[in-house]
Amino acid sequence: MPDRIHNESAAALAGEGSFRDRLATIDEKGKRKWVYAQKPKGHFYNVRTWVSWIFFLLFFTLPFIKVNGRPLFLFDITETKFILFGKIFWAQDFFIFGLTMVTFIIFIVLFTAAFGRLFCGWVCPQTIFMEMLFRKVEYLIEGDAAKQKILNSAPWTSGKIIKKTSKHIAFYILAFVIANFFLAYIIGVDELKKIIFEPLANHIGGFLSILGFAAIFYGVYAFFREQVCTVVCPYGRLQSVLLDKNSMIVAYDYKRGEPREKYKKNKYAEINTGDCIDCFQCVKVCPTGIDIRNGTQMECVGCTACIDACNKMMEAIHKPTGLIRYASENGITEGKKLRYSGRMKFYTIILVVLAGILTFLLATREDVGGTIVRAKGQLFQEIGNDSLSNLYTIKVVNKTLKDIPLSLRIENAPGRIIEADGKEIRVEKEGQGKGSFFIVFPKNYISKRKTPVTVGLYEGEKKITSIKTNFMGPFKRL
Ligand code: SF4
Ligand code: SF4
Repeated sequence: MPDRIHNESAAALAGEGSFRDRLATIDEKGKRKWVYAQKPKGHFYNVRTWVSWIFFLLFFTLPFIKVNGRPLFLFDITETKFILFGKIFWAQDFFIFGLTMVTFIIFIVLFTAAFGRLFCGWVCPQTIFMEMLFRKVEYLIEGDAAKQKILNSAPWTSGKIIKKTSKHIAFYILAFVIANFFLAYIIGVDELKKIIFEPLANHIGGFLSILGFAAIFYGVYAFFREQVCTVVCPYGRLQSVLLDKNSMIVAYDYKRGEPREKYKKNKYAEINTGDCIDCFQCVKVCPTGIDIRNGTQMECVGCTACIDACNKMMEAIHKPTGLIRYASENGITEGKKLRYSGRMKFYTIILVVLAGILTFLLATREDVGGTIVRAKGQLFQEIGNDSLSNLYTIKVVNKTLKDIPLSLRIENAPGRIIEADGKEIRVEKEGQGKGSFFIVFPKNYISKRKTPVTVGLYEGEKKITSIKTNFMGPFKRL
């Protein structure tokens, strides 16, 4: 009930209730309303600026960092090869990679239940690039929100053409640079250098990828903007199920703020009103165009701009800051502190278990692995009077940085292996190798239809790993 009262009173005072049935950036005819966000100023904005510098430093340097000759991170979806902290993962490691992703998602769920959209406001690349790079360039060229609005509605004079052209050229250059680095995370910085420095004809595909990514980034930051967070991002869509009344959000303290009343010098202290002076500063700075006084809304990315704006107003009228602050719904309605709820405890247990399994899998992961399968549609063959053979194919992945010549041996059984093409299997570093071979057993060893076999993979005399398979014999002993 308090929410309803809060929302209704806020909406009534704001003179409209449209936040309930449509996005703040869409008008009643379904047309986009452009957000002219005023430049925030204040403590949170300063800290976010520092965080953004750290983000930029990491984003633009990580592709150059290598561990044992490998990139620190690589997400090569074209070859299904992933490198995390210098450790390489192939499609065969998909289980580990999938588990890493699940662990990460559960971390996000837990984190969101506790801290709301802290990620969106502080470290999401979309918010950082938009608010801390592109928006700042826009302020620099076109001025603050009011000047941008005037410029947009002004006729096309030479001054306007110069400003608009400069802004879009600057935006495209930034998008192009980001696209290059983005691609470096997919193909690696060495491949990127080849695209940049070698003849274009050799790298048409790579060059078109850069142009494609640049066009997408330019489109997003020049035009689509906050719509990414409000209508595209799945994480944003999930907020309504991830947040509860104990989650930390950017919240307006309506108990303290309402009933709001315009500030009147000298009369303010005599009037029995809340602390909100209805100055709309919190709305003017909001990059998603919402009024936080209407309560928690899915468009809020937790950027803290409204906290800074309101604190400034509170200081100006000599009231305590924090009318808009980090708090939970319950914290505001019932005066409760942020607490560690049962749901959060449950998520934490799942997270700890998954992290344990993941650590075990990573620690015990073999550098060379593979699969052995019997050749399809083939039965056993008789060799001479006393032996039986099966044909197999082997696929081996070498996750090390050296080429490995492999020889195969039957473990703990009287059989032998004959390489089908008479050669050892050589697996190149960070590569995959395959080959065919026969396993030959004496007839008197095979007593049943299916006999388990263990094949050892050796580099010289050093055993690297072993793989289990089956040997198919006749139904009856021959
Ligand atoms: S309501 Fe406040 S925290 Fe939320 S997006 Fe707007 S300015 Fe940022
Ligand atoms: S900035 Fe603060 S005082 Fe001004 S309208 Fe927003 S909540 Fe009210």
